Order: sequence, then C-alpha cells, then structure tokens
Amino acid sequence: METYLPISYLNDFIFCPYSLYLHQVFDNSEEEVYSAAPQQTGKASHINIDDEKGNKKQITKILKGIYVISNRLGIYGKIDTLYVSEKRLVESKYHITTIYKGYYYQLWAQYFALIEMGYVINTISFFSIKDRKTYLVNIPEESEFQELRQHIRTIARYDFEQEFIPNPTKCSHCIYAALCDKTQNDHVYT
Ligand code: SF4
Repeated sequence: METYLPISYLNDFIFCPYSLYLHQVFDNSEEEVYSAAPQQTGKASHINIDDEKGNKKQITKILKGIYVISNRLGIYGKIDTLYVSEKRLVESKYHITTIYKGYYYQLWAQYFALIEMGYVINTISFFSIKDRKTYLVNIPEESEFQELRQHIRTIARYDFEQEFIPNPTKCSHCIYAALCDKTQNDHVYT
C-alpha cells in the first residue's frame, strides 16, 4: 500500500517539524488508520425530499468527521463538516485569532480530496467556535494545489535527524514538550 500523509500533519509540520516525529513515536493509537483504507465512518444526517414524480427520497444533508482521501496529493484525513446540499465545507477551530498558513493547507487538502471523491463544493470557510465568527476563504485553484503539493513533498522528504533549533515559545505550547529531547521547557498545560 502506498504511504499517505495525514491531513493534520500539514499544520503540525509548520508548527514544528519535530512534533511529527514525536507523534509517530508516542501516538501509535492511529496506527490502524495509517494502514487501513480510509472509510467514511463519520456522522451523516439526512433529509427527506420528494423527487419530480412525488416519490420520497432521502438525501444526505450534513457529513461530519468523515474520512477523505486524495490520491493526487497523497493525503488522507477527516473533514470537519460538509453541508452537502449547500455545497459548503467548514473547518471549525476552538478560537481563531489568526488564520495560519497551516490552517489553509488543511482546508485546501480537505477541499481537493472531496472534489476528487466527486463532491461539489462552492464555498469553504473557517468557523471560530468561541466567538462564533465565520471566515470565508477563496476556493483554492491550480496555484494553491501546486503550493500544497510542494508542502506535502517537503514533509515527506524531511530529515528528522538534521540539526534542529527549537522555538521556546512553541515548545511551551506543545503537548510533546515533556517528552521532547530538543527542549528543557515544559508546556503550559502541566
Ligand atoms: S517540544 Fe518544541 S521542539 Fe519538541 S516537538 Fe514540541 S515544539 Fe518541537
């Protein structure tokens, strides 16, 4: 089976490349996900509609947490929410103060995977849960696809044994700080 990168790595790598290495070492609970074919195991809600002949028909209205995969990009992962009828993809985060590049990469990856799987999407956005703000995002095009592909290649080719200077500010907000051999800092969650 070919190797696919989890979509979550796209943002985590920007936060700190070494965190991906620690994730692989300590979080093997996702092992079955790495080796299993991604499946649509998320939640779906449905609505009943009448077709043009008056027959009842059930259509999927909202998909939450389903797995998506892109063979073109070599990535897989879960989406947050797809409002199927509205053709609207939403990525929710607890509190968005800045939309980091890694957030875009995650959303673009979800979008491209869904398109490749046959879904139609007209709008994509972020939703900040804490202050209930919506941030509309431009639909990514070929240039964004190429940028994302380059980012994925950079992750795939990254040498985790190379010299590495940690960022103490990031370390203090990293869940792996207590386990990480690159820093003496502990994280703020202890
Ligand atoms: S503790 Fe610091 S160096 Fe280690 S993985 Fe986290 S951010 Fe990176």
